[in-house]
Amino acid sequence: MYEFQAKDRIYLKSRSFSNTNLVCHGFTGRLGGVSQGNICGLNLGFRVQDNPDSVRENYRLVAEDLALCYPRIVLAKQTHTDTIRLVTEADAGKGLTAPSDIEDTDGLITNLTNTPLMVFSADCVPLLFLDPETKVIAAIHAGWRGTVKGIAAKAVSMMQTHFGCDPKNILVAIGPSIGPCCLTFDPEDAAVFPSRYLSQGENGKVLVDLWAMNQDQLTNVGVLPQNIDQSKVCTVCRADRYYSYRTHKEHTGRQGAVIMLR
Ligand SMILES: [Zn+2]
Repeated sequence: MYEFQAKDRIYLKSRSFSNTNLVCHGFTGRLGGVSQGNICGLNLGFRVQDNPDSVRENYRLVAEDLALCYPRIVLAKQTHTDTIRLVTEADAGKGLTAPSDIEDTDGLITNLTNTPLMVFSADCVPLLFLDPETKVIAAIHAGWRGTVKGIAAKAVSMMQTHFGCDPKNILVAIGPSIGPCCLTFDPEDAAVFPSRYLSQGENGKVLVDLWAMNQDQLTNVGVLPQNIDQSKVCTVCRADRYYSYRTHKEHTGRQGAVIMLR
């Protein structure tokens, strides 16, 4: 991953994605943007306490910085499912410039050009996918629930089934999200995770490693380890730069992960 700065807005990008010259992409942060008050910054969430006009302006800034086709940005109403939508021409713009019926959906896949797919998060794990051979992209939101449901592996499986992608060609970028340093659960609640992703935290709490869990799910379905680019940036440790639900509670906005085929 490398940093890309536009004025006071700082993005993370994956070198392997950029090197293909096939996509515009990036992980946004909190700095810059026009949102005011508790959520101040580059908030991309419409379902938080922010002025919708500010949110739309933030989208315009991100689109300009990353050379995205603003009118065709596709958003989903994320609810921690493992539902992934195959985005077609009729979906272009849904959620931002057009009314949307994309509900209870936590992943988007397409082979359409000039159609940015965006997911947002504030601690949850955002993943971007690109198969440079078949020219197929995906954006996935994997909170702990989505990770337990295996949504990242499901994205690979859908890329195979619907577009004939070979997992060994697929590039994945995993963006800023809560790290194994900060994601704590009560021991009884941590039973939903395989024990190899757990470690002992302070005060009887258990630490959970969603980064490793997503990494393993991807390699288990044939993605090559060297094709997975982990930012390893923890949104709680870097809550100065990122929105973090665990840090700011209800006073938090959302950052985005976006990818578009040129
Ligand atoms: Zn941390």
